[in-house]
Amino acid sequence: MTGTMMHQPLTISSLITHAGRYHGGTEVVSVETTGGVTRSTWGEIEANARKLASALEKLGVKPGERCGTIAWNNRRHLEVYFGVAGAGMVCHTINPRLFPEQLIYIINHAEDQVLFLDKTFVPLAAKLSEHLKSVKHVIYMGPRDEELAGMVDGLLFYDELIAAEGNDYVWPDLDETAPSSMCYTSGTTGHPKGVQYTHRSTVLHTLGGNQPDGMGLSATDTILAVVPMFHANAWGVPYVAASVGCKIVLPGPNLDGESLVGLIDSEKVTMALGVPTIWMGLLAALEKTGSKIESLERTVVGGSALPTVMIPAFAKYGVELIHAWGMTETSPLGTLNQLLQKHDDLSDAEKAAIRVGQGRVPYGVELRLMDEQGKVLPEDGKTQGDLQIRGHWIVESYFRADGSALTMDGWFDTGDVATIDPDGYMIIRDRSKDIIKSGGEWISTVELEDIAMTHEGVASAAAIAAKHPKWDERPVLCVVKGAGADLDEAAVLAFYTGKIASWQVPDKVIFVDELPLGATGKVLKNKLRDMYGDVLLDDAS
Ligand code: ADP
Repeated sequence: MTGTMMHQPLTISSLITHAGRYHGGTEVVSVETTGGVTRSTWGEIEANARKLASALEKLGVKPGERCGTIAWNNRRHLEVYFGVAGAGMVCHTINPRLFPEQLIYIINHAEDQVLFLDKTFVPLAAKLSEHLKSVKHVIYMGPRDEELAGMVDGLLFYDELIAAEGNDYVWPDLDETAPSSMCYTSGTTGHPKGVQYTHRSTVLHTLGGNQPDGMGLSATDTILAVVPMFHANAWGVPYVAASVGCKIVLPGPNLDGESLVGLIDSEKVTMALGVPTIWMGLLAALEKTGSKIESLERTVVGGSALPTVMIPAFAKYGVELIHAWGMTETSPLGTLNQLLQKHDDLSDAEKAAIRVGQGRVPYGVELRLMDEQGKVLPEDGKTQGDLQIRGHWIVESYFRADGSALTMDGWFDTGDVATIDPDGYMIIRDRSKDIIKSGGEWISTVELEDIAMTHEGVASAAAIAAKHPKWDERPVLCVVKGAGADLDEAAVLAFYTGKIASWQVPDKVIFVDELPLGATGKVLKNKLRDMYGDVLLDDAS
């Protein structure tokens, strides 16, 4: 038996149709890779997305086939997001910071038929082209450019494809469980793995992630999407923005603090999203420029742990920080940190102590903690365990992989180690492969790093497990000094006194010029372990 209500499939085309129809005049501001800013509207984005869909069909791309993009956050990329998925094809966003071998692997594994490229990445694609087996059409996301045409055989030009189309294309009816989009995990170990989202998972992620206790965006906001559109669906921002019809600002390739401050001030941005390193750059630029970023009300920060110091640093400017956790496999929003009514009377410091954690789930996903024997652990805020998740927008299996990615009883193991308190607030203690196991006790690298980063002489820090003859593993801290800082090992170690138990204090501090970063800007701990994992053994011998 079924009820007696309309059934409308949850499709990505319905999101852009809404934005075009009810918010058609609202601005989309785009910093172009070739320089300058273009101003368009949701109405134009919707029309161009349909034109693109029509052009792709004429090029022979079939429903379900993948179209890759290697591009910054800009207007054409937004049109590609909606045009490709709306037509029933799959928008496969590719992270250009991956190694060339990984890019080749991903494009071939996804069997991308089309590659959309920003100007920055045309030379890269030209270099890879002889290894790409499936790509039939390469489309430069811009007007005709003879210099670029000389670099890639048969290069097509986005603006010409759009200009050749009329306005009569109608979005096809799609099954909501059809694939819409795809991202690969960055694959710090092994090959990258593809996560293929569905229209349904994307729309539910949009609705679930944007509740008032989530991103909380409305039509009155202006959102700055600093998180790249090539990483985890830009945290769902393009879809959320379309669903509420807010003004959106796409910063293009310039993600340095001063450029972002300039955009926030000139476009009167109310909400911005990005990883902590980006906000560190922004804070430094604020000091330098003297801007008060008066329009900015809140930011969503995620992708790696939020340094404690950042909450008061932003509070000075009246900006609220919403810490969020997620991963490519979770679309990505898993938790967002917003307070409960019972927290109303807490002091700012007490509130900040809660908000530095990763927060709680929106409706639509659930979390649990597991021990190594597969026993569900208590949510008491103290017991650490493997974090598992399930819900409407969580991966079930990887693209073209045999079998399920889930536990026997249908949960996805995140690879993170966490605690959850009785109110559902989750704190990531570490990644399971990074955590330090010293004499049977666990030491959180996240905590060691967070403390080190509150020292004014420390620009960044990463803790790793180094092999130890007696304790199996002991913490070693790699530190990048701040400019002009006068800092030695003893000073860093002394800084831990009274902040953590003495057995958790690192055994050694290594000063380095920089930390190795992966394609998503996170520290490559495995590389650091390769470099320094034996230092304590060397010291002992
Ligand atoms: P990868 O880093 O492997 O490319 P993702 O971008 O999907 O993959 O990152 C997911 C991982 O990033 C999570 O499993 C978690 O370890 C880490 N992460 C994401 N957000 C946070 C956060 N707010 N705090 C701490 N760790 C986070």
